[in-house]
Amino acid sequence: MRQPTLDDTSQDTRPSSTEPGPEPVVKTLAPLARGVLEAVAVEHGVCIRPVPMRRVDLNTGAAEVVYVPCGHTLASVCPSCAERKRKLRAVQCRQGWHLSEEPIITRADPDAEQRAWMELRAQAAAARDLAAENGTAHGEDAAFWDAVVRDLDNELERAGVRGSLKAGDQSKSRRTRSTRRRQDAPDLPRRPVDSRTVGKVFRGKDGNTFRPSLFLTLTLDSYGRVRGDGTPVDPESYDYARAARDALHFSKLVDRFVQNLRRFVGYDVQYFAAVEPQRRLAPHLHMAIRGTISRAELRQVVAATYHQVWWPSTDRVVFDGEHLPVWDDAAGDNGGGYLDPTTGEVLPTWDEALDALGEDADAEPLHVVKFGRQIDAQGVLADSADSRRCIGYLTK
Ligand SMILES: [Zn+2]
Repeated sequence: MRQPTLDDTSQDTRPSSTEPGPEPVVKTLAPLARGVLEAVAVEHGVCIRPVPMRRVDLNTGAAEVVYVPCGHTLASVCPSCAERKRKLRAVQCRQGWHLSEEPIITRADPDAEQRAWMELRAQAAAARDLAAENGTAHGEDAAFWDAVVRDLDNELERAGVRGSLKAGDQSKSRRTRSTRRRQDAPDLPRRPVDSRTVGKVFRGKDGNTFRPSLFLTLTLDSYGRVRGDGTPVDPESYDYARAARDALHFSKLVDRFVQNLRRFVGYDVQYFAAVEPQRRLAPHLHMAIRGTISRAELRQVVAATYHQVWWPSTDRVVFDGEHLPVWDDAAGDNGGGYLDPTTGEVLPTWDEALDALGEDADAEPLHVVKFGRQIDAQGVLADSADSRRCIGYLTK
């Protein structure tokens, strides 16, 4: 929001040296109406940038404009909506983390509207297939029917249908080969994964039962010693490249960790997690895991988890300065490509470079991401002060 600011002319009157001179002239402008309005809205937890939507009464045809909250999650955009979303996340985290009964998840039966859209979509898809075969269907070509099918998919989604029927859409072929083969299996025993998600119950000496949950923090390895403010003690030896690559691929490592953990412990481990930067800017992971897993098991999974990055090598600079690739609209198969400025050779695209790497049996991964060996795991009981503190970490 807008703060009252210094008048521009006041800068001229400020002393130019550090000696105590005359007091700078500060002129405070009156707050702007919009700023006041936003301040009052935030104070009352009301959205400061509501979105106008037109609502039409289908019987009378009368239209009115209603305002719905923007729902933004960043406090810098809308403090009120961000705070409301934060509270909601905290509630979801608390309820999900310490769940003691297996949740029953059912799918609602499709309603009349959803059925109607689906019927239309089936007709449009049939017309599209016909047009693809004969050139036209009902006087329109395949591209027209493709667009109709896409519109109907959007309507289905809007009507609350989840998932998609993308059978007809082969425009993007998925890259599945080599990188998958190259992700070597972790050195861990595997168990079949049970659909159970809640943790085990423990019985105390007094006969009381309790079902602890787990709060886990994982970090990345050291790249060199850092000072209290997170800056390297010795910038010469600090491994900036590894720090940057680790940060870039951290999310893949987290996915892999969860996958390995589920296979190792043999049940469908559920979690609520937040990734945030440490002072040295390396990301670290806080994870509220439903149920409890021993430290020894966690340590084993953390040690065995890694993610390999199969990218072309970056150790040699090929083009720099004035010597840069040139774009040519006529090059390549897909409407243009980059040429070598000296030889005029068409340079490979990113996908082609990855394909070449996949076929090279001697290739090495550009980078391997692993967690640091230090793991922090604590058992947390439902509705305890510990639990509230951890949920605070996760829903900042
Ligand atoms: Zn808002």
